[in-house]
Amino acid sequence: MTDCLFCKIISGEIPSVKVYEDEYCYAFNDIAPAAPSHFLVIPKQHIPSAAAVTPENSMIVAKCFEAIAKITKEKGIESFRIVSNIGEQAQQSVFHLHFHVLSGRDMTWPPG
Ligand code: 5GP
Repeated sequence: MTDCLFCKIISGEIPSVKVYEDEYCYAFNDIAPAAPSHFLVIPKQHIPSAAAVTPENSMIVAKCFEAIAKITKEKGIESFRIVSNIGEQAQQSVFHLHFHVLSGRDMTWPPG
């Protein structure tokens, strides 16, 4: 999708600090970290949010979770939180499916 910020990050048009990449997923540091370690894992295919996951594209979501398990294992991150905001009321600001992976501090529950 030409007008999507995260599609531009995947293509390299907008720079990012890459954490991981494979055929299906790209991971990079969040520009405004909300924890000592905060990276985003996104599918290379443009999917607007988790609300747009279908039987046709759900395999890519599984690949994102495989990537999260791989990255956190390699980084020695044993405890972390995965967040995906869907829609404006939930504070989604970039409409390309992404999973925030946060760690390195005590978390609270429920989230704000
Ligand atoms: P959302 O608010 O949609 O759940 O999450 C979007 C995330 O993307 C935010 O945490 C925000 O800091 C991050 N973000 C927005 N623009 C950029 C950018 O240009 N580069 C990087 N690395 N992260 C960004």
